[in-house]
Amino acid sequence: MISLWTNKEAKLFRKNDLSLRVYSSRLLGRNSELVLHGGGNTSVKGKYKNIFGESIETLFIKGSGWDLISIEEHGFAPVDLHYLLKLAELKTLTDSQMIVEQQLATLNPSAPNPSVEAILHALIPFKFVDHTHADALLTISNTPNGKKIINEIYGREILVVPYVMPGFILAKKIANMTKNIHWETLHGMILLNHGVFSFSNNAKESYERMIDIVTRAERFLIKANVWQKFNKSNSKADLLTLARIRKKASEITGKACIAILNDSSEAVGFSKMKVARELSAKGTLTPDHVIRTKPFAWIINDDLDISAGNFVNRYKQYFQKHNVNGITKLDNGPKWALWPEYGTICFGKSMKETRIIYDINRHTIRAMQMAHNLDNWKPISFRNLFNIEYWELEQAKLMQDNSSAGGFQGKIAIVTGAASGIGYSCTRKLLEKGCVVAGIDKNKKVSKLFNDLENYIGITCDLTRHAEIKKAIKTIVKKYGGIDILVSNAGTFSSSAKLEDIDDKKWKMDLDINLASHHRILRESVPYLKVGINPAIIFLGSRNVGAPGIGAGTYTIAKSGLTQMSRLAAIELAKFNIRVNTIHPDCVYDTNVWNKEIIKERAKQYNLSIKDYKERNLLKTEVSSLDVAELVVFFVSTKSNKTTGAQIPIDGGNDRII
Ligand SMILES: [Zn+2]
Repeated sequence: MISLWTNKEAKLFRKNDLSLRVYSSRLLGRNSELVLHGGGNTSVKGKYKNIFGESIETLFIKGSGWDLISIEEHGFAPVDLHYLLKLAELKTLTDSQMIVEQQLATLNPSAPNPSVEAILHALIPFKFVDHTHADALLTISNTPNGKKIINEIYGREILVVPYVMPGFILAKKIANMTKNIHWETLHGMILLNHGVFSFSNNAKESYERMIDIVTRAERFLIKANVWQKFNKSNSKADLLTLARIRKKASEITGKACIAILNDSSEAVGFSKMKVARELSAKGTLTPDHVIRTKPFAWIINDDLDISAGNFVNRYKQYFQKHNVNGITKLDNGPKWALWPEYGTICFGKSMKETRIIYDINRHTIRAMQMAHNLDNWKPISFRNLFNIEYWELEQAKLMQDNSSAGGFQGKIAIVTGAASGIGYSCTRKLLEKGCVVAGIDKNKKVSKLFNDLENYIGITCDLTRHAEIKKAIKTIVKKYGGIDILVSNAGTFSSSAKLEDIDDKKWKMDLDINLASHHRILRESVPYLKVGINPAIIFLGSRNVGAPGIGAGTYTIAKSGLTQMSRLAAIELAKFNIRVNTIHPDCVYDTNVWNKEIIKERAKQYNLSIKDYKERNLLKTEVSSLDVAELVVFFVSTKSNKTTGAQIPIDGGNDRII
């Protein structure tokens, strides 16, 4: 492992020790073989000046909720160092007491909560303390002879600590172990089955000691000829089965899940190993991961119901065996699955959560293979994992993630014509509700619309081309695991023409865009919607269907055909529990289909002024694309679970239709 430290970059952080702490913490965070998503923690000791100008000896420790890779100075909580050292002298301290005391000792009330390892960091008598869950070390540690090998590699300059629960118990253990040890002789500590600490009075030295410790573990694995030796293979993704697996995972979990398939050559190679089933059932890389991944995988076999049942039974037994305090069981849902021959699948309620699990899993299956090739994969016991999985402090971390929960979490939607107007508004609304959305549009800008959101993918696709639709659907299912909602909106406002003036070319072109393309995307989506979660389809019709106007020609003909297709679809798909409804908007002028010329033309056609034309409805109102989106959201939500085959106007009221 190479050090990423450069003096040039470090210069930018020379302001003070805390600033350098930010720099070297980020360096640790940049290497996914050291820490992943919120894992690991770092601290620096210094002074904090209060309002009276008094300097207080302070531990600045990573606050919970911060990732090392992106931490800022205010991501470190300033905690009274002496208070922490006093806490370390207590005989016992419960977890919740410890959290309260650490908060009491925090010198800035708006600082994040200090890490649960604050007392341990305080005890280490060096300015800089770095803690990671390095893959190479855990690979060695999670083998039957791990302790022996680690002692052989590092000798006396590293303190080797047997596994105990993190938090106060770990801090006490280390306080006892180091009573008669000269800290100056130590460069670091290895916590068996958990991770590694390095320390120094110098930021660079502490960071580089970490790199050195990990490098020595890597060298051992290289010498043993197991370092990064992975079974590799390829397979063709079976996307329909993936969607069925996702549905099953969602059913067991009790709510919709995203499913990310890892079908990299490494993951497929792993899944094809005979021993993969056994390895996947044994435990996690570091205990912290259990709250994300559960202690073992769902092992998929040909009969999904049976294999899912096996997983649920196993999880229930695990809970019953280790539960002593009458705690409430978490849901039975798997967090990752071994899919023999095809790779691994990770499940989560949002893309953010699922990606975290995916990354953890990618590193874990690598470590499992290396440990197996070295000797055997042997993480900590299920009892120890249970204590972490159901530890109140870990559960609190998950609660933070839940804060953005909306009615559509874990659901996957497709919106066509997403680059503008009604499609854009529907996409925005569904994203706000927590849904994952794939926006499809001919306009390339669709791919850049919501780039800051993990839950969005924009796909450029011409809906008149079958091959492009097929490809788009595959991309979506591959990325998210299925399809639950289709908002079939894309269309154009074809120019007015009386029937006698419509030539074959116009007829063909307009009906292709406004009718046939809706059928194409329906046809390609239905196999996945059949295994979707509360699946629903919305077609965007038009007021023109119920009240056609002179010259509306191909537009109204296509929209009427679309309405009929929607009615048929409702009938044909009801047995799969897929609901299909049509929304008929009118007077929506904040969309691309309307421009001044078209409005002028239409007004003329009706012999109305532009103002009168715009308000030619009973409520004398304009309908915005957001109004339409609100209605769409309602009709794809479970709130409208009992409605299918309906046509709902959103037009300000039209006396010809009423
Ligand atoms: Zn740790």
